[in-house]
Amino acid sequence: MAYVYDPTNIFARILRGEIPNNTVLETDHTLAFRDIQPQAPDHILVIPKGPYVCLDHFAFEASDAELLDFIRTSGEVCRMLGIRPGEAGGGYRAISNAGENGAQEVPHYHLHILAGRPLGRMLNPA
Ligand code: 5GP
Repeated sequence: MAYVYDPTNIFARILRGEIPNNTVLETDHTLAFRDIQPQAPDHILVIPKGPYVCLDHFAFEASDAELLDFIRTSGEVCRMLGIRPGEAGGGYRAISNAGENGAQEVPHYHLHILAGRPLGRMLNPA
Protein backbone atom coordinates (compact mmCIF):
# COMPACT_ATOMS: atom_id res chain seq x y z
CA MET A 1 0.00 0.00 0.00
CA ALA A 2 1.06 3.60 -0.54
CA TYR A 3 1.28 5.70 2.58
CA VAL A 4 -0.04 9.25 2.32
CA TYR A 5 1.55 11.78 4.66
CA ASP A 6 -0.29 15.02 5.47
CA PRO A 7 2.36 17.76 5.86
CA THR A 8 -0.14 20.05 7.61
CA ASN A 9 -0.32 17.85 10.73
CA ILE A 10 0.63 19.46 14.03
CA PHE A 11 3.90 17.56 14.49
CA ALA A 12 5.04 18.54 10.98
CA ARG A 13 4.37 22.13 12.00
CA ILE A 14 6.40 21.64 15.19
CA LEU A 15 9.27 20.22 13.14
CA ARG A 16 9.14 23.25 10.81
CA GLY A 17 9.34 25.53 13.85
CA GLU A 18 5.88 26.98 13.25
CA ILE A 19 4.66 25.89 16.70
CA PRO A 20 6.78 25.87 19.88
CA ASN A 21 7.47 22.71 21.82
CA ASN A 22 9.09 21.71 25.09
CA THR A 23 12.06 19.77 23.74
CA VAL A 24 13.63 17.04 25.85
CA LEU A 25 16.16 15.79 23.29
CA GLU A 26 16.90 16.44 19.62
CA THR A 27 19.19 14.57 17.24
CA ASP A 28 19.75 14.64 13.46
CA HIS A 29 16.76 12.38 12.81
CA THR A 30 14.59 12.49 15.94
CA LEU A 31 12.83 14.97 18.23
CA ALA A 32 11.56 14.21 21.74
CA PHE A 33 9.29 16.72 23.44
CA ARG A 34 6.68 16.94 26.19
CA ASP A 35 3.05 16.20 25.38
CA ILE A 36 0.84 19.30 25.64
CA GLN A 37 -1.81 17.31 27.56
CA PRO A 38 0.24 14.97 29.74
CA GLN A 39 -1.45 11.78 30.91
CA ALA A 40 1.26 11.14 33.52
CA PRO A 41 3.88 13.28 35.34
CA ASP A 42 6.28 12.46 32.51
CA HIS A 43 4.67 12.21 29.07
CA ILE A 44 7.14 12.49 26.22
CA LEU A 45 6.49 12.16 22.50
CA VAL A 46 9.35 10.82 20.39
CA ILE A 47 8.99 11.53 16.67
CA PRO A 48 11.15 10.97 13.61
CA LYS A 49 11.92 14.13 11.65
CA GLY A 50 11.01 12.34 8.42
CA PRO A 51 7.46 12.21 7.01
CA TYR A 52 6.12 8.90 8.34
CA VAL A 53 2.49 8.33 9.27
CA CYS A 54 2.73 5.44 11.72
CA LEU A 55 4.97 2.68 13.05
CA ASP A 56 4.65 0.34 10.06
CA HIS A 57 5.29 3.19 7.60
CA PHE A 58 8.41 4.13 9.56
CA ALA A 59 9.50 0.50 9.82
CA PHE A 60 9.20 -0.14 6.07
CA GLU A 61 10.42 3.13 4.58
CA ALA A 62 12.82 4.81 7.00
CA SER A 63 16.57 4.45 6.52
CA ASP A 64 18.66 2.35 8.87
CA ALA A 65 20.12 5.56 10.27
CA GLU A 66 16.66 6.95 11.06
CA LEU A 67 15.53 3.69 12.64
CA LEU A 68 18.61 3.36 14.79
CA ASP A 69 18.52 6.98 15.85
CA PHE A 70 14.85 6.78 16.82
CA ILE A 71 15.19 3.77 19.08
CA ARG A 72 18.42 4.98 20.63
CA THR A 73 16.90 8.42 21.28
CA SER A 74 13.87 6.78 22.91
CA GLY A 75 16.17 4.87 25.23
CA GLU A 76 18.17 8.00 25.95
CA VAL A 77 14.99 9.85 26.96
CA CYS A 78 14.24 7.08 29.47
CA ARG A 79 17.81 7.32 30.78
CA MET A 80 17.63 11.12 31.06
CA LEU A 81 14.36 11.00 32.98
CA GLY A 82 15.59 8.27 35.33
CA ILE A 83 12.58 6.10 34.59
CA ARG A 84 14.27 2.88 33.54
CA PRO A 85 13.20 -0.17 35.58
CA GLY A 86 15.33 -0.20 38.72
CA GLU A 87 15.78 3.58 38.72
CA ALA A 88 13.94 5.98 41.03
CA GLY A 89 11.34 6.72 38.33
CA GLY A 90 10.23 3.12 38.52
CA GLY A 91 9.54 2.19 34.90
CA TYR A 92 7.42 3.51 32.09
CA ARG A 93 5.06 2.60 29.27
CA ALA A 94 5.81 3.17 25.59
CA ILE A 95 2.78 3.28 23.29
CA SER A 96 2.24 4.01 19.63
CA ASN A 97 -1.29 4.51 18.35
CA ALA A 98 -2.03 3.87 14.66
CA GLY A 99 -5.09 4.54 12.56
CA GLU A 100 -8.73 4.49 13.49
CA ASN A 101 -8.81 1.53 15.87
CA GLY A 102 -5.62 2.75 17.50
CA ALA A 103 -7.27 6.15 18.09
CA GLN A 104 -4.34 7.97 16.48
CA GLU A 105 -4.99 11.74 16.53
CA VAL A 106 -1.85 13.09 14.91
CA PRO A 107 -0.86 11.37 11.64
CA HIS A 108 2.88 11.65 12.16
CA TYR A 109 4.49 8.60 13.73
CA HIS A 110 5.17 9.07 17.43
CA LEU A 111 6.02 7.03 20.47
CA HIS A 112 4.42 8.06 23.76
CA ILE A 113 6.64 7.48 26.79
CA LEU A 114 4.60 7.73 29.99
CA ALA A 115 6.01 7.56 33.50
CA GLY A 116 5.93 9.00 37.00
CA ARG A 117 2.93 7.13 38.42
CA PRO A 118 1.55 3.59 38.39
CA LEU A 119 -0.02 3.25 34.94
CA GLY A 120 -2.41 0.38 35.58
CA ARG A 121 -3.17 -2.32 33.09
CA MET A 122 -2.33 -1.68 29.46
CA LEU A 123 -5.88 -1.52 28.13
CA ASN A 124 -9.13 -0.47 29.74
CA PRO A 125 -12.45 -1.78 28.46
CA ALA A 126 -13.67 0.32 25.50
P1 5GP B 1 -2.17 10.20 19.40
O1 5GP B 1 -3.58 10.13 19.89
O2 5GP B 1 -2.10 10.63 17.96
O3 5GP B 1 -1.40 8.94 19.68
O4 5GP B 1 -1.45 11.29 20.30
C1 5GP B 1 -1.27 12.61 19.93
C2 5GP B 1 -0.72 13.36 21.12
O5 5GP B 1 -0.25 14.61 20.68
C3 5GP B 1 -1.74 13.63 22.22
O6 5GP B 1 -1.29 13.04 23.44
C4 5GP B 1 -1.81 15.16 22.31
O7 5GP B 1 -1.94 15.64 23.63
C5 5GP B 1 -0.48 15.57 21.69
N1 5GP B 1 -0.50 16.87 21.03
C6 5GP B 1 -1.43 17.34 20.17
N2 5GP B 1 -1.12 18.58 19.76
C7 5GP B 1 0.06 18.89 20.37
C8 5GP B 1 0.88 20.05 20.34
O8 5GP B 1 0.62 21.05 19.66
N3 5GP B 1 2.00 20.01 21.10
C9 5GP B 1 2.34 18.92 21.87
N4 5GP B 1 3.46 18.98 22.57
N5 5GP B 1 1.57 17.82 21.91
C10 5GP B 1 0.44 17.81 21.18
